[in-house]
Amino acid sequence: MRPLQVAPRMGRLRERLDGAGVDALMVTCLQNVRYLTGFTGSAGVLALTGSGALLTTDGRYRTQAAEQVAAAGADAEIFVGALGAQRDALKAFVSSAAHVGLEADHVSWSDSRLWGELVGDIVPTTGLVEALREIKDEGEIDRVARAARIADSALEEVIAMLATGVTEEELALALDTAMRRKGAESPAFETIVASGPNSAKPHHHPTARAIGRGEPVVVDFGATFEGYRSDMTRTFFVGGEPRGELARVFAVVEDAQARGVAAAAPGVGCKEVDEVCRDVITQAGWADRFEHGTGHGVGLDIHEAPTLSPLGTATLAPGMIVTVEPGVYLPGVGGVRIEDTLVVTEDGNRALTTFKKTAAA
Ligand code: ZN
Ligand code: ZN
Repeated sequence: MRPLQVAPRMGRLRERLDGAGVDALMVTCLQNVRYLTGFTGSAGVLALTGSGALLTTDGRYRTQAAEQVAAAGADAEIFVGALGAQRDALKAFVSSAAHVGLEADHVSWSDSRLWGELVGDIVPTTGLVEALREIKDEGEIDRVARAARIADSALEEVIAMLATGVTEEELALALDTAMRRKGAESPAFETIVASGPNSAKPHHHPTARAIGRGEPVVVDFGATFEGYRSDMTRTFFVGGEPRGELARVFAVVEDAQARGVAAAAPGVGCKEVDEVCRDVITQAGWADRFEHGTGHGVGLDIHEAPTLSPLGTATLAPGMIVTVEPGVYLPGVGGVRIEDTLVVTEDGNRALTTFKKTAAA
């Protein structure tokens, strides 16, 4: 597995400070702190100026912070202390900055007032680190790929128990356990197993409902490996092929997903990939039954930039990792969603999730 290239990231972020109208940035989003320094603790702030960086955390993370920042090769000083002392240290560190950026999407109203009192002129910033995170380095791609392989392999093992009578909860637990055994540190998010009419709810929480013969079962899950996540959905019909209207739904979603995947390439707008999927579903007459976006970025977070939806503004570029996951949901009847995680390459894309998409289970 190729190493993560953490060290150059703060330099890339510095290049963006001017454009955001700030001389310093308080990074309060912990995933962004991790991305920039390698530090994975549950409390900490990174202050970045044009020439330096200060990571503050509390005594629980004294050793861990030093080890992880050194291992990542990140050029940051570390201050360990109580919350008040951390704030004083951060204030002193950015004292020469006229405008201090705060991550608007990651600070509460009360925190932003506090920072305003502490450091003077605060400027809300949006997506500065998130934009860097859109393009994955080789080490990041390898970790998402490993997470995807773990999920593929877990489903391969668990698919055998997908039979009439098994409950949604049992199947979800079996998948989560298999992923852990195969090296995942955790599921990438709460595993979705949705059977029968429940499959018409895109984010259904698994229940004690027993799966019935011929019913759709939507399985949406992923693994986390060294902080990086994967995301895959398959829809199976227990005891054979889908029948009636759901057979048509399956064929349409399968076609929409395949076309969306085929369209994902460098230079293509995220909005265009969404359009490709949405057009297929619209032509089939189910435009209002596809009520979510086509996909999203995947990395340290399960949902991150860029967004593949009618509102998507980004353009795909090599190194981006995104999902393509159209679905059609008929309330009271059932639903179908098919999703892969892909990495955009120089000339197209490569699927990281590869489990077969056949309906029969
Ligand atoms: Zn998913
Ligand atoms: Zn997804």
